[in-house]
Amino acid sequence: MRLTFGDLSLEGASRGGDRTWFRVHPPGLAFDVGRGALGLMGARDVFVTHGHLDHCLGLPFVLSYRARHGGGSTRVGCPAAIADALAGWLEDAARLEGAQYDFELVPMEPGDRLSVGPDLTVEAFATAHVVPSLGYHLTRSRRCLAQRYRDTPGPELAALRRQGVEIEDESEEDWLSYCGDTAARVLDQEPRLFASRILLLECTFLDPAHREQAARYGHIHIDDLAERADRFTNEHLVLCHLSRRHTVEQLRDAVVERLGSLAERVEWAVA
Ligand SMILES: [Zn+2]
Ligand SMILES: [Zn+2]
Repeated sequence: MRLTFGDLSLEGASRGGDRTWFRVHPPGLAFDVGRGALGLMGARDVFVTHGHLDHCLGLPFVLSYRARHGGGSTRVGCPAAIADALAGWLEDAARLEGAQYDFELVPMEPGDRLSVGPDLTVEAFATAHVVPSLGYHLTRSRRCLAQRYRDTPGPELAALRRQGVEIEDESEEDWLSYCGDTAARVLDQEPRLFASRILLLECTFLDPAHREQAARYGHIHIDDLAERADRFTNEHLVLCHLSRRHTVEQLRDAVVERLGSLAERVEWAVA
């Protein structure tokens, strides 16, 4: 699966309980690694949302492959609460195959930020799953002419620039936000999600009979989105992690039936 949104492209595969991984270009980082996939091997930065194996089983595979093929060092961001377990597991995997992985584990808490490329930062936020979990914003900083110089003629601006006057302001926007597995209350906890340019959000359940189950297992039901449909101002809402009991056609029908005009901005990352 590959989706393109202007300058940003998203590659990956996602099905609830099976595998979920994404690569985001730029900067080429990975959000979760599923059960491992060759499409992940170029990622120098990998961010794991939680310890469920449909999201992180592939981690030793990715590190092993990168070690054997000269991929260089890998930085692995993860919820601080699972860092010890992850480190021990990776150590065992390396010992099992007599290999040495080259990686830096970065335990993260909500609000922690890592630079991932020119003008690009990943910031962690709290999500609401049944095990310790984080979501990640990919933010981009942009420079634009400061408001106070909006009416200044070009030659004057050039002169100011030559004199070393700072005529630009720096602003930051959430370019893409990814929640991993989470119950719908993440949307109330982290309102920035409604405004992120691209929101990559799980929608595991569609059947009205599964609403209670979704909440119990820390997942989102299409009705959770329907209830908040008028709050999403994102350019694109990309749904992922669909349960294997549903087909893509069922998801498409439910989006049209339940989400009203929001449906026009919805895509799915299901494969
Ligand atoms: Zn999952
Ligand atoms: Zn999970």
